[in-house]
Amino acid sequence: MADCYDYKECLPAEERERRQILQIVEMINAGYRKSSRIRKIFSELPLDHSEIKTLNDFEKLPVISRAKLIELQTSEPPYGGLNDIDAEVDRIFISPGPVYEPHLSESDHLWARAYHAAGIGKGDVVLNAFSYHMVAAGLTFHGGLRNVGATIIPSGTSSSQLQVQLIRDLAVTAYTGTPSFLMSIITKAEEMGYNFKNDFKMRHACFAAEPLAPSLREKFESEYAIDTYQMYGATEVGDVSFECSEKKGWHICEEVLLEIVDPATGRKVLPGMLGEVVVTRFNNTFFLFRFGTGDLSRLIASPCPCGRTSFRLDGIAGRVGDAVKVRGLFIAPSQLNKIKEKFDSAKFQFIVSRTSHEDILTVRLEPKEAATDTASLEEKFRKYFKDVCTVRIDRLEILRPSALRDDDKMIVDQREWK
Ligand SMILES: [Zn+2]
Repeated sequence: MADCYDYKECLPAEERERRQILQIVEMINAGYRKSSRIRKIFSELPLDHSEIKTLNDFEKLPVISRAKLIELQTSEPPYGGLNDIDAEVDRIFISPGPVYEPHLSESDHLWARAYHAAGIGKGDVVLNAFSYHMVAAGLTFHGGLRNVGATIIPSGTSSSQLQVQLIRDLAVTAYTGTPSFLMSIITKAEEMGYNFKNDFKMRHACFAAEPLAPSLREKFESEYAIDTYQMYGATEVGDVSFECSEKKGWHICEEVLLEIVDPATGRKVLPGMLGEVVVTRFNNTFFLFRFGTGDLSRLIASPCPCGRTSFRLDGIAGRVGDAVKVRGLFIAPSQLNKIKEKFDSAKFQFIVSRTSHEDILTVRLEPKEAATDTASLEEKFRKYFKDVCTVRIDRLEILRPSALRDDDKMIVDQREWK
């Protein structure tokens, strides 16, 4: 059995799903009783709230995007009518939009699963470099760290020089914040004459709010001996997923229902396919069902060697608006960059066109040097592309050197929707 935060992380899949349905039904019943907005949403649907009995039924509820949430809150401040008006709220967070979020409870597990999986706990002294001002970040990460028994320094967004002083004076063992800020703290420490690895005790870092570039991760781990972990969430729904020591995908938190959906229909896509991350946080205060994060990802359904049984998110591939859809499957710029890395600086152009109501994907590939064995290059490319993007290439053109210009667009969508 894995070193889990609690037994829920190792539940059999069927048991987890049974609990999720119970929690959704309970939340829908409470929302229907207590929230005017939920009653209005159901009045516009061809189904009664009592008819939601499975996760497939739940898909019939509309996805609420951040833009939609702002619209609801503007028309009905402060929470768009999505809250229980009798509930005691200990604090209200504000995020750009503005979006107002009632903090759910002092006793929740927010972020604690992530810190536990990263090996942070009693005895650790953690620098929390997330902002404590207005937004949810600082205080909710703080709560998660307290939950696992760590001591926190609420340094927030203080200057990097002050952070270096705190790391030295208070024998800090771990950091939580963005990866870029940790790098600037390390750079400052070096400017001040310190050897970060030898002079300080920082051995763990948990990042959120910004992607962790593989090259930066490698630098933190090999040059500075800092074991790094990624965490993922959204201020509207709290923590969503976290990395375990395997570092291959992010486990989904037990307090949320996560769906990967086709943004056009709001219906789930198959495991392995890219779609929008849609999250519902089980609670009885703020009835934000099916929050559409706008992030693109896919699920990893295979078991994780760490022993946790939840599905994992395969990182974030990008934003829904930046991706192009071919035969119903998304291709995101981040996937194309991954392919570019593999094929060592080759240049590409991906053209999506449409013939007889069928999408056609044409790839124009310009190898770094004139290809001698084009058949083998073509085969390798097609295979790797299918592995990464799950979409089949219809036409592949191998180009001569300098055929593509540096300012040519990587994705060209020629389809016209008439
Ligand atoms: Zn794992």
